Amino acid sequence: MTQETGGFAALDLHPSIVAAVLATGYEEPSAIQQQSIPIILAGHDMIGQAQTGTGKTAAFALPILNRIDPSKREPQALILAPTRELALQVATAFETYAKQMPGVTVVAVYGGAPMGPQLKAIRNGAQIVVATPGRLCDHLRRDEKVLATVNHLVLDEADEMLKLGFMDDLEVIFKAMPESRQTVLFSATLPASIRAIAERHLRDPKHVKIQSKTQTVTAIEQAHLMVHADQKVSAVLRLLEVEEFDALIAFVRTKQATLDLASALEAKGYKAAALNGDIAQNQRERVIDSLKDGRLDIVVATDVAARGLDVPRITHVFNVDMPYDPESYVHRIGRTGRAGREGRALLLVTPRERRMLQVIERVTGQKVAEVRLPNAQAVLDARIKKLTNSLAPLVADAESTHGDLLDRLTADIGCSPRALAAALLRKATNGQALTLEAVEKEQPLVPTYTPRERTGERPERGERERRAPMPLGEGRARCRTALGARDGIAAKNLLGAILNEGGLAREAIGRIQVRDSFSLVELPEEGLERLLAKLKDTRVAGKQLKLRRYRED
Ligand code: AMP
Repeated sequence: MTQETGGFAALDLHPSIVAAVLATGYEEPSAIQQQSIPIILAGHDMIGQAQTGTGKTAAFALPILNRIDPSKREPQALILAPTRELALQVATAFETYAKQMPGVTVVAVYGGAPMGPQLKAIRNGAQIVVATPGRLCDHLRRDEKVLATVNHLVLDEADEMLKLGFMDDLEVIFKAMPESRQTVLFSATLPASIRAIAERHLRDPKHVKIQSKTQTVTAIEQAHLMVHADQKVSAVLRLLEVEEFDALIAFVRTKQATLDLASALEAKGYKAAALNGDIAQNQRERVIDSLKDGRLDIVVATDVAARGLDVPRITHVFNVDMPYDPESYVHRIGRTGRAGREGRALLLVTPRERRMLQVIERVTGQKVAEVRLPNAQAVLDARIKKLTNSLAPLVADAESTHGDLLDRLTADIGCSPRALAAALLRKATNGQALTLEAVEKEQPLVPTYTPRERTGERPERGERERRAPMPLGEGRARCRTALGARDGIAAKNLLGAILNEGGLAREAIGRIQVRDSFSLVELPEEGLERLLAKLKDTRVAGKQLKLRRYRED
C-alpha cells in the first residue's frame, strides 16, 4: 500500500469497502468525498452541491454501503436518479464498491424493461435499489409496501429530476418511506424548487459545497474538446499528431487508465510512461528524470502521482479525464507554462461533464475555447511538415556525401532520380500513411457529437401558440398523444416519461410540441414500432400516454 492510500483508510469506512475502492484504482478521496463521507456515515441528512465529475457517486455510495446491514435481506437504501442511463451507472458503481461485501445485492429499476423481474429482485432481498422515479411509482402502485424498510434515501441530480417533471412522483415516493429515514440530496444547482424539497423532506441537513476560489491562470493557452468517453484514446492519438509539443503530461483518474493510455501511446511509437501511486519512489524519480532529459516525451499520470512534478520541458497538459474540481484543474495545467514559457492545456469533456467545464470557466474567469478534432487533412499536413523538418537540414550537404551514390543507384536500377527518391521516402517513413486517402482510411473515426450534446440544450419546450407543426428533423418520425396542456402536461413531463420508459438517450428525442388538447413528439424513425410498443402502458400525469405515429396530410 502506498502512503497516499491513507486518504481512504482514514475515513472510517469498513475495510472491505476501502479494499474495493483501492482495487478500483482510486488513490485518494476527491474533495466532495472527503467532506460528505463522514457526514453520511454519522447518519445526518445532507445537501451536496456537486456535479458529475466530482466523484459524487462514491461520495454517497461508500457511506451508504457502510450503513446497511448485509445480513438483512430487504431494501435498505434507495437511490433516485433522473434517467435510466444514470440509474444504471449508479447501480454499477454500487456493485463495484460492494465487491468485497458478500450478500449485498443491488437492483436497478427503470422504465423500458419488464417490471416483474425488478419487483422480484427487490422482494428477493436486494438491499440497494437504484431507480428512476417514474418506474418506481409504477411499482408502488402494485405494492405500496415496497419501500417500507428503506431508511436511506439519496436523490441524485435532484435538479435534473425536477427538470424532467418528476416532482409529483417524488412526493409519492417520499410518502411511501419511513419518516425516520436518512435523506441525502445531491444537485448541481440549488434553485428555489430544490430548496423547498429540502425544507420539507430533510431534517436539519448539513450542507456540503466545494468552495471554489477564483484562480488565475496566465501564459497557458487553454482549449477543450468534446468527446465520448470511449473515444478518448483515439482522440488523444489524433491530437498528438498535430500538436507540436516538447514534453507532455496527460492526466487520468485511475492507475489502470495510466497503464492503458501509456501502452496505447507506446504502441504508436511515442516515448511514454505511466506514473501512478503504485510506482515505487525510485522508479518515479527515474521516470521524471527521463522526462527532463528527453528519453521520455509523455507521462500519463494521476493527480496524486504528479504531485510536485516540475519539468520545464513540459509544453502541454492533456486533461484526458476531468479533474474533480477547478482547483485541481488549475494545479494540473500549472505543470506547463513554467519559467515564463508558453504552455498549452487541453481538456477532454464528455457530454455529461459539460457543467464541470462551465464551473472551471467561472472559477478561472476564463473561457476555455472549444477545438474540434483535427481532420485527416490536418493530420496529413502535420505529418508532411514533420517530414520536411527532418529532411530539410540534411539537404545542404547530403548531395556531397551521397550524390555519387545516387547517380550509381539510378544507373544500376535504371530509374529516374524521382523514382529513387520516392522509394527512399517510402522506406524512411516506414509505411506511414502520407496521402489523404490513406490517412482517412487509417483514421476513420471522428468522434461524433450532436449539436444538442454540445450545447446541452434540451428539446424545445411546449409551444402551444404555434399552429403548424415545425419541419420534421431528419430520420425522425412525428408521434402524437391526446394528452395536452389542458391535461396538465408540459414538455418536460413527456420528455421524462419517454426517456425512461423508452430507454432512449436524451439526444434521440427531437422537438416536443404541447398544444391544448394534444402533443407532438419527434422520435427516431429507426425502431419506432418497437419503441411505441414499449411505451404502450406508459402513464404521464396519471393518464395513459397512448403515443401513435402521426401523419400530416
Ligand atoms: P461521478 O462524479 O460520481 O460521476 O464520478 C466521476 C468519475 O470519477 C467516475 O468514473 C468514478 O469512477 C471516478 N472517481 C470517483 N471517485 C474517484 C477517486 N477518489 N479517485 C479516482 N477516480 C474516482
